[in-house]
Amino acid sequence: MGSVAVCPGSFDPVTLGHLDIVTRGAKVFDRVIVSVLNNRSKNPLFSIDERVALLKETTAHLPNVEVDSFDGLLIEYVKNKQANAIIKGLRAVSDFEYELQMASINRKLDEDIETFFMMTNNQYSYLSSSIVKELAKYQASVTDLVPAQVETALLEKFK
Ligand code: ADP
Repeated sequence: MGSVAVCPGSFDPVTLGHLDIVTRGAKVFDRVIVSVLNNRSKNPLFSIDERVALLKETTAHLPNVEVDSFDGLLIEYVKNKQANAIIKGLRAVSDFEYELQMASINRKLDEDIETFFMMTNNQYSYLSSSIVKELAKYQASVTDLVPAQVETALLEKFK
């Protein structure tokens, strides 16, 4: 069996920061499954289907990347997919505490699934989906922050 990593997140919407992590992850793992968390407690701008569609379009050039969505416990999903790793991006120190907690609880649930962290590309260290939505809401340019398809989708949402 090759190495298979799940890259989970809200991706509401996918940004160049996410794509940087996915692209780098795809060089290290045989397969990467980017999976949209169906988290009902959040109030998303894009539906699950829209988020999956945008991810599919923007990762289509990466042959070993697939896109999916999931509900419930991440570790159960990872096991169902027969994956052996989780990849996450780290931006600031503020990401660290939460991610340490998640990685620790996930290891307790299944010690055979390892979490790998990649440091953000410096040019994206300030970038989050929330910032992008905030800018788009006030008609500020997001050209350097998201892929072209996402910019179009944002313009459509806020027009
Ligand atoms: P957000 O915090 O932007 O809502 P998600 O929940 O969609 O992000 O995040 C999915 C994963 O992508 C997380 O591991 C998160 O740390 C990572 N990530 C998000 N934005 C960036 C970025 N600009 N650089 C590196 N990693 C990032």
